Amino acid sequence: MSAPALSPTTSSPTAATASTTAAARPRIVIAGAGPAAQALVRHLTRTPFAGAITVLSNRDDAPEELLELAVLPQVSVRFGQPASYIDAEDRRVTTADGMEFTYDQLVIATGSAPADAPVEGASRCLSYSTIDDAARLGDAIKDVTRVLGRRPLGILVGTGSAAGQAEAVLRARGVRPVRTTVRPAAVVPTLAGSVLPASGIVFEDGSSMNGDLVVLAEERIARDELAATAGLATAPGGGISIGQDFRTSMPGIWAIGDAAAYDGVRLGLLVASGSAASVCASQLLQASLGRPLAAAA
Ligand SMILES: Cc1cc2nc3c(=O)[nH]c(=O)nc-3n(C[C@H](O)[C@H](O)[C@H](O)COP(=O)(O)OP(=O)(O)OC[C@H]3O[C@@H](n4cnc5c(N)ncnc54)[C@H](O)[C@@H]3O)c2cc1C
Repeated sequence: MSAPALSPTTSSPTAATASTTAAARPRIVIAGAGPAAQALVRHLTRTPFAGAITVLSNRDDAPEELLELAVLPQVSVRFGQPASYIDAEDRRVTTADGMEFTYDQLVIATGSAPADAPVEGASRCLSYSTIDDAARLGDAIKDVTRVLGRRPLGILVGTGSAAGQAEAVLRARGVRPVRTTVRPAAVVPTLAGSVLPASGIVFEDGSSMNGDLVVLAEERIARDELAATAGLATAPGGGISIGQDFRTSMPGIWAIGDAAAYDGVRLGLLVASGSAASVCASQLLQASLGRPLAAAA
């Protein structure tokens, strides 16, 4: 069952398409609702853009930042509507529930996701897999430190840049991290009465590591599955290939944030998402006004 839209447009699949097609105003559809998409909406709504902006979020929850944008008159946010297919010829995006959205310009901002399936028992330990996890980690460490009355020993699992950041976060909060780059077979529960539900891991060969807390900070990859449906070029290491102007290989489709790769490299930083959104907004504005794009001029 689809979550309702939060601002003015239609809610049935047919009506959504009809209203889109009938609209004289240029329509920008954004697939994804994370920091990159939000920054793009903020930039667009500060410009003289007179069209309609539809944001498709695959999540049912509505973070405060997104709700603030959803009340703007030109913005419609569809919650619980993962974009699942792009018809690049007809300029139409279909969601997993079958809702269709016609676009003049489509921006893919689907971000990144963990590369591997979760380790067994992962829900029992701390995770460092989104930028918000840093604050959650800090709170949990405070609790453990208070109960132990000493610096906690933390088992940190991960190899890439997220693990490097997590290690810095743990050290900054007084944890002694012991890092393993070998993926465990499972996270094991602690004995009853512990502050945290897990403090150890076991490996395939039966060996184990124990500490006061366990943090998983595993590698992430671009969420670029939509690219295949539209025949967009992707980078060998993942990510939708873009040019300096954030255009993909298909006219009318752009990509920003963690889902995009420039020159084969995924951008992967908030600050990069913010500046991508700013440049992309100017490009979209020019494209919507029918002027030549700056990069093409
Ligand atoms: C642990 C961690 C720590 C970080 N720390 C920092 C830091 O200190 N400084 C910094 O600059 N950057 C940091 N980053 C990077 C920063 O968080 C990302 O660069 C930024 O979140 C990218 O934003 P995004 O919108 O492209 O992607 P995401 O944040 O991944 O958001 C994408 C959104 O799109 C949604 N979505 C996915 N697929 C679909 C679909 N098909 N349809 C609709 N919606 C979809 C997702 O649910 C998600 O809400 C960190 C990242 C991680 C993982």
